Amino acid sequence: MQLCENCLSVTRDTSGAPGHPGLRIVDTRRSRIPGSVTVTISTFRCQECGAIWRYREAKDNGPKGWALVPDEGTGSE
Ligand SMILES: [Zn+2]
Repeated sequence: MQLCENCLSVTRDTSGAPGHPGLRIVDTRRSRIPGSVTVTISTFRCQECGAIWRYREAKDNGPKGWALVPDEGTGSE
Protein backbone atom coordinates (compact mmCIF):
# COMPACT_ATOMS: atom_id res chain seq x y z
CA MET A 1 0.00 0.00 0.00
CA GLN A 2 1.28 3.43 -0.94
CA LEU A 3 0.59 6.02 1.71
CA CYS A 4 -0.51 9.45 0.60
CA GLU A 5 1.39 12.54 1.69
CA ASN A 6 -1.06 13.29 4.47
CA CYS A 7 -0.67 9.81 5.94
CA LEU A 8 3.09 10.06 5.72
CA SER A 9 2.94 13.24 7.78
CA VAL A 10 0.95 11.75 10.66
CA THR A 11 2.93 11.58 13.87
CA ARG A 12 2.74 8.07 15.25
CA ASP A 13 2.75 6.76 18.80
CA THR A 14 2.25 10.20 20.30
CA SER A 15 -0.75 11.00 22.45
CA GLY A 16 -2.63 14.04 21.23
CA ALA A 17 -1.06 14.08 17.78
CA PRO A 18 -3.50 15.18 15.09
CA GLY A 19 -4.58 12.99 12.23
CA HIS A 20 -5.35 14.58 8.90
CA PRO A 21 -8.47 15.88 7.17
CA GLY A 22 -8.80 12.91 4.83
CA LEU A 23 -9.35 10.47 7.66
CA ARG A 24 -12.90 9.27 8.24
CA ILE A 25 -13.78 7.48 11.43
CA VAL A 26 -15.20 4.01 10.90
CA ASP A 27 -15.25 2.56 14.39
CA THR A 28 -14.80 3.49 18.04
CA ARG A 29 -14.43 1.04 20.86
CA ARG A 30 -14.21 1.96 24.49
CA SER A 31 -13.47 -0.56 27.13
CA ARG A 32 -12.82 -0.10 30.81
CA ILE A 33 -10.31 -2.32 32.45
CA PRO A 34 -11.74 -3.08 35.93
CA GLY A 35 -9.79 -1.20 38.58
CA SER A 36 -7.67 0.40 35.92
CA VAL A 37 -8.13 2.73 33.01
CA THR A 38 -10.51 3.30 30.16
CA VAL A 39 -9.09 2.47 26.77
CA THR A 40 -10.53 4.10 23.67
CA ILE A 41 -9.56 2.81 20.27
CA SER A 42 -10.84 4.62 17.20
CA THR A 43 -10.37 3.28 13.71
CA PHE A 44 -10.08 5.56 10.70
CA ARG A 45 -9.81 5.06 6.98
CA CYS A 46 -7.98 7.48 4.74
CA GLN A 47 -10.14 8.58 1.85
CA GLU A 48 -7.13 9.34 -0.27
CA CYS A 49 -5.03 6.20 -0.08
CA GLY A 50 -7.25 3.75 1.82
CA ALA A 51 -4.87 3.31 4.72
CA ILE A 52 -6.39 2.14 7.99
CA TRP A 53 -5.29 3.97 11.09
CA ARG A 54 -5.99 3.26 14.72
CA TYR A 55 -5.87 5.85 17.45
CA ARG A 56 -5.46 4.52 20.96
CA GLU A 57 -6.18 6.69 23.94
CA ALA A 58 -5.52 5.43 27.46
CA LYS A 59 -3.80 6.56 30.60
CA ASP A 60 -1.68 3.49 30.90
CA ASN A 61 1.74 2.47 29.73
CA GLY A 62 0.53 0.94 26.50
CA PRO A 63 0.94 2.42 23.06
CA LYS A 64 -0.75 5.75 22.49
CA GLY A 65 -1.78 7.77 19.53
CA TRP A 66 -1.72 6.83 15.90
CA ALA A 67 -0.68 3.47 14.54
CA LEU A 68 -0.99 2.20 11.03
CA VAL A 69 -3.00 -1.00 10.79
CA PRO A 70 -1.35 -3.55 8.53
CA ASP A 71 -3.32 -4.41 5.44
CA GLU A 72 -4.93 -7.69 6.32
CA GLY A 73 -5.00 -8.63 2.71
CA THR A 74 -7.27 -11.22 1.22
CA GLY A 75 -8.47 -13.47 3.99
CA SER A 76 -9.44 -16.98 2.99
CA GLU A 77 -12.34 -17.53 5.31
ZN1 LIG B 1 -3.69 8.46 3.17
